[in-house]
Amino acid sequence: MNIYDLVVKNGNVVDVEQKIIKKANVGICKNKICTITDKNIKGNVEIDASGLIVSPGFIDIHGHVDGSIPCGKLSVLQGVTTTVGGNCGGGILDIKKFFDEQDNRGFFINQAQLIGHSFRLREAVGIGDPYISATKRQIEIMSDLLKKSFQDGAIGLSFGIEYAPGSSRDEIMTLSSIAEKYDKIVAIHTNVNNPNDLSSLKDAIDISEETGVEVLVSHFVYQYGTGIMTEALEMMDRARDRGLRVSADSGMYTAFSTFIGSTIYDEQYMKKFGWKFEDLLVATGKYKGKRLTRDTYEELRKYSKEESVICFTGIEDEIYEALAKEYVILSSDIGPSPTGRTSEGHPQNAGTFPRFFRKMVREKKILSLLEAVEKCTLSPANRLGLTNKGRMKVGADADIVVFDIDTISDKAQFPDIGEPDAKPEGISTVVVNGKLVVSEGDLILNSMPGKCIRDLPACTIW
Ligand SMILES: [Zn+2]
Repeated sequence: MNIYDLVVKNGNVVDVEQKIIKKANVGICKNKICTITDKNIKGNVEIDASGLIVSPGFIDIHGHVDGSIPCGKLSVLQGVTTTVGGNCGGGILDIKKFFDEQDNRGFFINQAQLIGHSFRLREAVGIGDPYISATKRQIEIMSDLLKKSFQDGAIGLSFGIEYAPGSSRDEIMTLSSIAEKYDKIVAIHTNVNNPNDLSSLKDAIDISEETGVEVLVSHFVYQYGTGIMTEALEMMDRARDRGLRVSADSGMYTAFSTFIGSTIYDEQYMKKFGWKFEDLLVATGKYKGKRLTRDTYEELRKYSKEESVICFTGIEDEIYEALAKEYVILSSDIGPSPTGRTSEGHPQNAGTFPRFFRKMVREKKILSLLEAVEKCTLSPANRLGLTNKGRMKVGADADIVVFDIDTISDKAQFPDIGEPDAKPEGISTVVVNGKLVVSEGDLILNSMPGKCIRDLPACTIW
């Protein structure tokens, strides 16, 4: 009888491709799934998953982990085995160096990276002012940097137009066309111009229409969960009916978080949306858990631009409305605290995935377990072109999460109420590339089997 490296026994195994859940034993050899069987099998390590769900590891398609150790821990404790960094126009520019460093040191989970336009590429060509457009020459240099990043294995391009409102159509379309040529995805944090305006969504759809590239609209509820969700989804439906490759990702919270120095917290911007200082909750630093005042706003904008501030802006039901759509993928928007401190930040960093299963499957019964698992596994894998992840089949990468659908719960709270990084309940085992990283609900320190995903083009284009 074969002895496998690791066996997950007697669980309810979710096969998202076949759309079935069946009782089975999963045998892992090295970093791959090598059998899924109802026969009794033996392993050097055996995990009893009786009564539990055995799912492909979750893929977090929208995050800002970018090698942050605290974010890596919070991700894997939620069942995430692959995260996509470099969203919203940020992240890392020298992807080759980053991948080498991460793989040398090791990381809890797998990381794929987008190349960010609105901070990184613009910075690299010397644009300091977010309100101005790039020149022709600057667009050329950004284009070369982007091509090099794709050749080094970046998985796509990201825009954060709200952080660089001066970005020109030429700039956006030229870079998106390059992404299309390399068969990469474009993720876009849209530039919401005023509270009830959907023109920013049209601009995002136009990118796909004009260049043919696959577009993923970022944190959809943060952008349109303000009373216009139905109309926003109708626009997406119509675009998809026309054959455009557009989809979206979304989290489980109505309040977004970003750094206080960003354009989003410019006074003219806040005025446009009618946000008052008391709508804004400081998530990190010395004012953590306090609402802003004119004085603290001015102090932070001047001296502590990196501190995270949460803005309460959305409508809860619009989260569920968005995530009920088959083309909306679950994402956390996780980001590190500027100082690396723990016990601060947004509860999305620790709570998104368990909250999704608790709310949408167990309590509200909006999605079946299979549909919910698909949104965290196969759907993001397909969007990203990852054929060995997000699925439970022989030969797939052994990224697995074991959880209890009857108890899975988020414990993270907003920082004025409780612990934003509280560990969830009901997620007992997480396996990354065949190695245990979470066992009996606890992180195994120094277990860092995560790998960077180098999405290398089939051949060098141009
Ligand atoms: Zn964003």
